[in-house]
Amino acid sequence: MNTTQVKAYGAADKDADLKELNINRRAVSEKDIEIEILYCGVCHSDLHTARNDWGGTLYPAVPGHEIVGRITKVGSEVTKLKVGDLAGVGCLVGSCSTCDSCKNDLEQYCSNGWVGTYNGPDKLLGGHTFGGYSEKVVVDEHFVLKVPANLDLAAVAPLLCAGITTWSPLKHWKVGKGSKVAVVGLGGLGHMAVKLAKGLGAEVTLFSRTPDKIQDAKDLGAHNVVISTDEDQMNAVTGEFDLIIDTVPNIHDINPYVATLNYSGTIVLVGYLGPLDPFLNTVPMIMGRKSIAGSLIGGIAETQEMLDFCGEHNIVSEIEIIKMQDINKAYERMLKSDVKYRFVIDMASLKA
Ligand code: NAP
Ligand code: ZN
Repeated sequence: MNTTQVKAYGAADKDADLKELNINRRAVSEKDIEIEILYCGVCHSDLHTARNDWGGTLYPAVPGHEIVGRITKVGSEVTKLKVGDLAGVGCLVGSCSTCDSCKNDLEQYCSNGWVGTYNGPDKLLGGHTFGGYSEKVVVDEHFVLKVPANLDLAAVAPLLCAGITTWSPLKHWKVGKGSKVAVVGLGGLGHMAVKLAKGLGAEVTLFSRTPDKIQDAKDLGAHNVVISTDEDQMNAVTGEFDLIIDTVPNIHDINPYVATLNYSGTIVLVGYLGPLDPFLNTVPMIMGRKSIAGSLIGGIAETQEMLDFCGEHNIVSEIEIIKMQDINKAYERMLKSDVKYRFVIDMASLKA
């Protein structure tokens, strides 16, 4: 298959800084769309992948799954979008399209394995997929999203992962007017969860370790902020919430959050991936018919629904724009929770 070489930024191994390198993009086939990447958000998953926190990273690793850009080429059978349109690509670039999950617009739960925008199996070129820290990407039109034209494009990029990952559980658990929602952690995902839950009409509380974020959280729409390391503040919200979205990226004790769920409430883990420590105490789960759940990004139709909702309600991410060359510094700041509230790479810096 014909390919074009493009500039990208990636890690050669788990201990290496990200550096400029060249990758190949496939030639545009009938159903493909080629996008010149204008902005790419920086998700904590990018860092987990570059540093092999979850195991299984394939190198070189080129992260980036919060992509927005302009369409430069389309295949002959593409109907969704045209050359010159704005477009977005999130975490997914492929799935089987025939299994039950795919047929139900839940490509992220594809039983034959979905293809991640990076570090997924590249079925056409062989090897693995490369993400949005690059000049261009070529994606099947099914996985390309329409971007609302009224929003700031750089601030839209994080909606493609942070937005959909928090929107999907909010919708699945039917959050709306009258719902009491709490969000754990005010980072990329957390600040979108606050904005989206508020946009859906819920009363939102933020759990944070960081008193400096209290005012920001309120400005973003939180009705209340609970400092999670303060036992009195935690006790004051016992039995309060219908739904908690926990975005913390590291292992942590979820038992104190379970105590703040109302009967029949659910805590959805979207951040930390792995076994819990300490163990989950089942007593409050049984006594209060409480649930613990997980949730993975969102399907393509749901991502479009979220983008359209954001367009209608003027919701975007709070961002700090960086140059591609500053990505390693950005990762270090992310590890210190020093991001307000999403880094977005201006991809023009890669061309300079
Ligand atoms: P982020 O911007 O770094 O935000 C994480 C926030 O969690 C921090 O700002 C901090 O908020 C809090 N936090 C960090 N370390 C903590 C600790 N040890 N204990 C308690 N709180 C802590 O990260 P992100 O991009 O939002 O991503 C969050 C996690 O979600 C990552 O693990 C990422 O891989 C994962 N993720 C999952 C999905 C999915 O589909 N499920 C999709 C995308 C990302 P405070 O300062 O307010 O405490
Ligand atoms: Zn992500």
